[in-house]
Amino acid sequence: MSIFNDTQLAFSLKSNFELKKAYLLFKSIQNPTLSNLGINFLQFSIKNNLPGVDFIIKNTMYTQFCGGETREKAVPIVEKLYEHHVSSIFDYAKEGAETEESFWETFREIITNIEFASKRKEIPFVVFKPTGFGRIDLYELVGKKKPLTATEKQEWERVKSRYEEVCKLAHKLQVPVMIDAEESWMQDAADDLAREMMQKYNKEKPIVWNTVQFYRTDRLDWIQTEIAQAKEMGYFLGYKFVRGAYMEKERNRATIMGYASPIMPTKEATDDQYNAAAELALDHKDILSVYYGTHNERSTELIINKMEVMNVAPHSSKIFFGQLYGMSDNITFYLGNAGYNATKYLPYGKLQDVIPYLTRRAKENTSVAGQTGRELGLIATEMKRRNISIL
Ligand SMILES: Cc1cc2nc3c(=O)[nH]c(=O)nc-3n(C[C@H](O)[C@H](O)[C@H](O)COP(=O)(O)OP(=O)(O)OC[C@H]3O[C@@H](n4cnc5c(N)ncnc54)[C@H](O)[C@@H]3O)c2cc1C
Repeated sequence: MSIFNDTQLAFSLKSNFELKKAYLLFKSIQNPTLSNLGINFLQFSIKNNLPGVDFIIKNTMYTQFCGGETREKAVPIVEKLYEHHVSSIFDYAKEGAETEESFWETFREIITNIEFASKRKEIPFVVFKPTGFGRIDLYELVGKKKPLTATEKQEWERVKSRYEEVCKLAHKLQVPVMIDAEESWMQDAADDLAREMMQKYNKEKPIVWNTVQFYRTDRLDWIQTEIAQAKEMGYFLGYKFVRGAYMEKERNRATIMGYASPIMPTKEATDDQYNAAAELALDHKDILSVYYGTHNERSTELIINKMEVMNVAPHSSKIFFGQLYGMSDNITFYLGNAGYNATKYLPYGKLQDVIPYLTRRAKENTSVAGQTGRELGLIATEMKRRNISIL
């Protein structure tokens, strides 16, 4: 019997109506035909401004997975979660825009999020995506040490200055800032930048946090090298550990371009590597703080068991857990209730800007065996417990 089966606790924030809505939503997403149709329809309607569609999406996908159009509008959710011992991490979910104007806009948004978080105990981190600050192709060029034109050099200087300003303010206001991981072909440059920021701002404690994706075949060796280097040079590491969200895209690109896929061959291999890394982090907690971003119950249980064996307090400031808003509430609320540092990634943004994020959630919940089944099973159990039917 899993420790994460307390559905009363898991859905304590959901009304009967919201529970039914969540059930119907996951049921539709689970069906690949319906889901693909829905994704195509979603993209087409938003692009073409179809009347009424905004309303439908806002009341289904959007409310399930997003906190609101602005950070301020998401605050009631932040407060409600905190009453249930769960902190929030604002995730400005605008993706895909590649203009200088949009990079500056995202930069300003993150700066304001740091200022905002510095005054709010409910918000332990601020997060941003590398591609929120610069073009993916530019990261790739820099990471592969390709020659840059004069214009590209200036462009890269601007990316670096956005990182620098954000990390400097985070350090000044003592708000940890977490950098997401994205596609493998842009990640080297992003990792180099993050490391540079860690060396500068993590001298007393981890302020700059990076992300490692353990579905990548090379990451267990990589993290060990990072640990050795930080020990040698004397700075703290903060990492979010995830499995990785771009598996299909990575594999397709590798096939089309004819190189070996950087992704583990099987789910089991990814799981083994994630779990090995999860334990490794605890063995190096003198220098490494870790945020476990996972919906996997077995990994979470393994981590909390090892914490117990090692006598690490659940609320240790070196260990955090996080799930995405709208998913795996059974894990988040269990952890929060048991005194662990439980968090939700809480995306916000205008509907048309968060479509790539919502599309990823829909695809993930269709393609990843088990996840939606698990959500549906838990919702159904809770509906039964409350004696409500879907009709
Ligand atoms: C708080 C939070 C923050 C996140 N931030 C990021 C981020 O910055 N960057 C990022 O890329 N992702 C991020 N993710 C998403 C994450 O990488 C996973 O895609 C997602 O959480 C599902 O993995 P899981 O650990 O929850 O467990 P599960 O649902 O048990 O595992 C699913 C994952 O296993 C892997 N997998 C599935 N099938 C196979 C297969 N056949 N072969 C090899 N591997 C397979 C994939 O990575 C898949 O996503 C984040 C997730 C959370 C909860």
